Amino acid sequence: MAIVGAGVVGCAIAARLASHRRRCFVLERETHEGTGVTSRNSGVIHSGLYYPPASVKASTCIRGQELLYAWCLQHGVAHRRTGKLIIARSQAEEAALAELLANANQSGARDLEWISPAMVARMQPELGQVQAAIWSPNSGIVDVHGLTRSLRTRAEQNGAVVVCQAQVVGLEPRQDDVVVHTSRGSVAAAQVINAAGLQADDVARMVNLHDYTIYPCRGDYYWCRGPTIERLIYPVRASNDPGLGIHLTPDLGGQLRVGPDARYVDRKDDFRPMHDRQAAFEQATRRLLGPQVQFSLHYEGCGIRPKLRGPQQSGFADFVLRAFPDRVLHLLGIESPGLTAALALAERVEDWVRKTE
Ligand SMILES: Cc1cc2nc3c(=O)[nH]c(=O)nc-3n(C[C@H](O)[C@H](O)[C@H](O)COP(=O)(O)OP(=O)(O)OC[C@H]3O[C@@H](n4cnc5c(N)ncnc54)[C@H](O)[C@@H]3O)c2cc1C
Repeated sequence: MAIVGAGVVGCAIAARLASHRRRCFVLERETHEGTGVTSRNSGVIHSGLYYPPASVKASTCIRGQELLYAWCLQHGVAHRRTGKLIIARSQAEEAALAELLANANQSGARDLEWISPAMVARMQPELGQVQAAIWSPNSGIVDVHGLTRSLRTRAEQNGAVVVCQAQVVGLEPRQDDVVVHTSRGSVAAAQVINAAGLQADDVARMVNLHDYTIYPCRGDYYWCRGPTIERLIYPVRASNDPGLGIHLTPDLGGQLRVGPDARYVDRKDDFRPMHDRQAAFEQATRRLLGPQVQFSLHYEGCGIRPKLRGPQQSGFADFVLRAFPDRVLHLLGIESPGLTAALALAERVEDWVRKTE
């Protein structure tokens, strides 16, 4: 078994397969695990509110959340069940919030509550007067690097071999196996899993699978200094927003981040700071916090989402798990909630491995 990519998804797959005594190689082009999309995100453990019921995103997010909390407890990965408030500021947003709750309940998201403005004021007075809110008690945050490292370590303890600085440059399917050519030599594997994140479409093209294009969609973050916020605070998502709307995320070190926004970019590898959105971030932060709250924003950095939906396309794009040819399974479009879903995606990959052995 060869896994292309040692992000949180590739490492979760390796940890799962190795725990069931499957020999696997993880081939990673960078110097260590978790330096791709995994290294630049919000670190939020999601509850699966936003995706159509029965979609792969909804089901792997909900299952993945459960598995992730259990993994963190078992392996000593830092995390916190902060809970999350999604707040409406107008009647129109309240209606959208009600639709979101109905969708989330239909998807099987757990323990969500519609709470009163008075309750919000008691829980998080910094938000000022809200129109309505949903409380998601199981949402939380996780140390993403610690998680990815623990998955890699567990995989290696069970015999997986993680080879870094090994860029996969070609895949050659044969009758009984697939030869994986890398910058450090070649290896034959009975099955190959493509978990290459932003480059998963490039890897798919190595076996002439041309059906998917990954569109890089950038999200920037700012530090927010001033208020003490212990919970995740989200706005109602605008229907045309490719992200979830700029939100407030406390981190495990007690700092508060605001972001990410969402804009399509041309390159998958340009992480240079962009300071042109400060005014938009200030406006979005002001809408989340009450009018009395003093804050200042300081640029932090960005991440890039691997989207299967382009800037001119509308509608929902699900995670794709596609076998092509039979021995190669491609994971495409693993944007948010891919971190939350990683352990559940690993379960699905293991099912596929079992069926194709
Ligand atoms: C701004 C932003 C915020 C997000 N927030 C959240 C969140 O709060 N909660 C959540 O659940 N999810 C979130 N996500 C999504 C989450 O980060 C991703 O779904 C997840 O990290 C994807 O992991 P991965 O292993 O698929 O990809 P990656 O981490 O990118 O791993 C792929 C690996 O493949 C390697 N690779 C690529 N090509 C090759 C090759 N040819 N040969 C060898 N190796 C190769 C890369 O170097 C990389 O290490 C967010 C994403 C972004 C961008």
